[in-house]
Order: sequence, then structure tokens, then C-alpha cells
Amino acid sequence: MDKVLSFHQGSLPLLISMPHAGLRLTPAVKGGLVAQAQGLPDTDWHIPRLYDFARELGASIVAAEYSRFVIDLNRPEDDKPLYAGATTGLYPATLFEGEPLFKEGQVPSAAERATYLEQIWRPYHDTLRNELQRLREQFGYALLWDAHSIRSHIPHLFDGTLPDFNLGTFNGASCDPQLAERLQGVCTGFAHYSHVLNGRFKGGHITRHYGDPANNIHAVQLELAQRTYMEEREPFAYDEQLAQNTRQVLRKLLETIMAWGLERYGR
Ligand SMILES: [Zn+2]
Repeated sequence: MDKVLSFHQGSLPLLISMPHAGLRLTPAVKGGLVAQAQGLPDTDWHIPRLYDFARELGASIVAAEYSRFVIDLNRPEDDKPLYAGATTGLYPATLFEGEPLFKEGQVPSAAERATYLEQIWRPYHDTLRNELQRLREQFGYALLWDAHSIRSHIPHLFDGTLPDFNLGTFNGASCDPQLAERLQGVCTGFAHYSHVLNGRFKGGHITRHYGDPANNIHAVQLELAQRTYMEEREPFAYDEQLAQNTRQVLRKLLETIMAWGLERYGR
């Protein structure tokens, strides 16, 4: 297996996770994908680039190198469905639009997939767990920002058009409610963007599993509508001008989560 993740250790109690940013495929997955999937349409495109300022802020950052078409790092290893309606699993069988992801008879074998779990999924989660533990030991608390993006129209997954900023705290279970309120306040301050808290996207496995406010780990997921910084159609080009404005909001959100931590824990 090639490099499965990139990790940067920062200087503040904030870890940013990018589980769907990866573009690599294994030979078995690459060979099996239907033509429509070859361009990796369901990727959280350009997330590392969009958040590249966060390194200077002092955040730790972990990003996937492999595509979610190989294994979805934001799903539990037992593959229990995250949402009641249509969703995709640990080893996606369909595209977001509902069509099969693999050509008939070309789905990677169970043995092949077991190696993805051990060699891709597990190192990512080991990194998350170890870094959150390190932060909590050093600062007394840890903040986790799970960074995602998605096309704003996917009829198979949700009705209508997605708001620009979709904050998820697993209905309040993954972080202090005061923190969620502050983040919503930031979004309200940027009136030309729409936002929602715990709408269609309430936080995936990472937010739900690691968010543990009673033990001073506060996790928030942001599902960002891709139209706020890129072209939503192939070849999924980054739009520098759009991104500049969106990055201002992202910066303010990350500054706010850190300011809240400082205020709440005094360090
Ligand atoms: Zn995602």
C-alpha cells in the first residue's frame, strides 16, 4: 500500500480531519469502477487546499490519501448505517446518485477489502485517537473539526439544494452546546451564505465516535456545499475567487472554536 495518510502536528488543541480528500485508488478498485466513477465524483474536492491556512493557525491536520471508493473512513468498521434513508457504506456499492459504483463482477474481494480496513482505515483512526489523546494530555481538552464538502444537488441523498454551511454535532451530543451556538453565530454573521445546524448532515462516524464533551473532546463536522469554492461538475475545478470568500468564513469558524476552548478551559 502507498502512503495512506498525511499528518501534520500543530501547536494548538485543534485537530482537523479530512477523511474524504483522498484521490488514490488500489489496482482492484481502479480496474472495477464504472466509467462514470473514474473521475471520482464523490470526493470532498480540494479540501486540503481550501484549508491550507489552518497549518499557519497552528492546527494539527490529518488527511486521507485513498479515495472513499476504496474504503470510507467516516464509517464505523462494523458498517452500521449512519442515516435512516439513502446513504453509502464502509465499502461503497453505489455512487451518490444511486448507480452501481463497480462493473458487474468487478467488486473487490472480501480478502482485498480486509486489507483496506487494516492498512487504510485503521491507521487513520489510530492517528485520530492518538492525536486527540496527546492534545487532551497537553491542554486538558481537544477540539476536532471534521472537514467535508459535497455537491449541493444530489436528489438521491437529499431534497432540493443544500445550505452552504452544514454544521453537524450529532444533534448536540458531540460538543458543548455553547460551542455550537458560537459557530452558528459566525455563520449568521456572513449573511450571503446560508447555513444549518444538524440538518441533513448531523456528523458522520468520526464526529459521533470521537466527540465526547463529558471527557473534554469536542467534535464538529462541517459539510460545505462545493458551490462555495469550486465547479460542481467534472473536472471539478477549484475557483480561487469563490474560495477566497469562503476561506474567510472557515478561518473565522476555526478561530472561534479555538477562542471558545481558551475561554472554557483557560489554556
Ligand atoms: Zn465527506
